[in-house]
Amino acid sequence: MEKYEIITHPNPFLRRKAKKVSVFDKDFQDLIEDMFMIMREAPGVGLAAPQIGVSQRVVVVEYADAEVENAKPKAYVLVNPEIVYHSDDTTSDLEGCLSVPGFVGMVERWNEVTVKAQNRFGKSIKIKADGWLARIFQHEMDHLDGVLYIDKATEVYEPSDKEINDIEPEPEN
Ligand SMILES: [Zn+2]
Repeated sequence: MEKYEIITHPNPFLRRKAKKVSVFDKDFQDLIEDMFMIMREAPGVGLAAPQIGVSQRVVVVEYADAEVENAKPKAYVLVNPEIVYHSDDTTSDLEGCLSVPGFVGMVERWNEVTVKAQNRFGKSIKIKADGWLARIFQHEMDHLDGVLYIDKATEVYEPSDKEINDIEPEPEN
C-alpha cells in the first residue's frame, strides 16, 4: 500500500500554509525519496509536500531543459524556499497541476527567479532559474502557501489530447 497519495482540488488541505521544516532527519529524507517516486509515477515535473497531505515547506522538481538537446533531467530539492529576486518581465503560458487533474490554464509568471532555500540536509543554497524551470519553481512554491495556479490563471479549461502533448515541457524521446 502506498504511504501517500496525491490529494486534489477542492481538498482544503491544499489551501493551508505549510509549516517550516526544521528537522532534517531520516524520516525527512524518506519523505523526499517518496516525493520523487510519486512525482515520477504521476508523472510530473514538480511536487510540493502539501500535495501529498504533508504540511512541510518542501518541493521536489525534476526537469530536463527542453531547449537543450539531449539534456538530462536535473533533480532539485527546495526546503523552506523563498524568492529573493525576480525579473520584471513575465511570460504567460499553459500550466497544469497534479492536484487539478484534467485541466490547464494560462498563467503569468516571472521569467527569471533566484530562490534561496535549504537543501535536503539543511545547508543553505541559492538557485537561479529561468524559463520553464523558473515557472515550475513558482508554481510549486505557491503550493506551500496554499495557492493553486487556478487562482492566478486567466482561463482554465480541459485541453484536447494534442494540447496536452504540446504543454509537457519534456524533451522528445
Ligand atoms: Zn501544482
